[in-house]
Amino acid sequence: MHLSRKTFGKCQDRNVHLYTISNDNGLVVSLTNYGGIVTSVRVPDRQGIFANVVLGYDTLEEYVSDKAYIGGLVGRYANRISKGSFQIDGKMYSLACNDGMNHLHGGSEGFNKKIWEAQPVREPDGCGVALSLISPDGDEGYPGTIDVQVLYLLSSDNALIIDYTAATDIRTIVNLTQHSYFNLAGEGLIHDHTIRINASGYTPVDKDYIPTGSLKSVDGTALDFRKERKIGTVLADADNPELIEGGFDHNFVLDGSGGLSLPAAKLYHPGSGRTLEVYTTEPGLQFYSGNFLNEQMVGRGGVPFCKHGALCLEAQHFPDSPNQRAFPSVILAPGHVYRQTTRYQFGVRI
Ligand code: BGC
Repeated sequence: MHLSRKTFGKCQDRNVHLYTISNDNGLVVSLTNYGGIVTSVRVPDRQGIFANVVLGYDTLEEYVSDKAYIGGLVGRYANRISKGSFQIDGKMYSLACNDGMNHLHGGSEGFNKKIWEAQPVREPDGCGVALSLISPDGDEGYPGTIDVQVLYLLSSDNALIIDYTAATDIRTIVNLTQHSYFNLAGEGLIHDHTIRINASGYTPVDKDYIPTGSLKSVDGTALDFRKERKIGTVLADADNPELIEGGFDHNFVLDGSGGLSLPAAKLYHPGSGRTLEVYTTEPGLQFYSGNFLNEQMVGRGGVPFCKHGALCLEAQHFPDSPNQRAFPSVILAPGHVYRQTTRYQFGVRI
């Protein structure tokens, strides 16, 4: 295993670093302490040819101006909160509304725009970077000062493991996730990928992507991925009312407690043989098919992004949980520790 650090640039008068971690199989992950962003993940195909399977940019400046959460750590609350408001113990809190009338992914300056403290970590079966951040009381409108720790680890068996913890001084809400955009071909569209998602239900949303509060079965819908299906087959039916913006932007309610032993989702690219399995302790998985990516957004090496050019598999609690009593709670109280672990396991199918 190997870990190195170089200067990535300067931002908010602070030096920002780029960490590059490689394992003995040649997998290489790069990440920066600006926004906890994963900038690059290079993995082999079935012939041993490496490609970068996440979207990214070349420079820090591009990450600073990015609005699509490319590769970032998302918090304090990943996904949407209706009207940016919620109550804890009868007290109303108002958050920054940065998505029309609603709050999205932590607000105008979420965790993906903060500079994190970083420490290299070397463990017997992995190498990585431990990030930490103090988010002060009132940050984007959230109550309480929270101390957030995120450990990124590249394992010797080709997984990128993300371990999150957080602690607070007063009752608040926390829902963290990772927003990498994957394309296992390393280029082109995601249509020829297949996906399996271990979810019998999802949380339907209104026109502003806010959950209606009900849970709906995926049975007989475009969202039934309990058996592996080709993504392009579903995307071809762009007018299907179950799709959002002609694609996927849905919170899947994961079945059972697969946790870290059963995959919540399995992505496969037949052309290259590359696979990605997602394991998580979280109850939900947002499958977002890059519906808002477009050619005006130019990525690494000057190559423009494009709609459905990559997808996110964001392990998290359900959207708008602070306003939905039936959804699992996202409240964090003093003396308790928020924990979530997600493992992105890379492989090949021969
Ligand atoms: C959300 C999309 C949103 C996108 C922003 C995704 O996680 O599900 O609705 O537009 O992030 O990049």
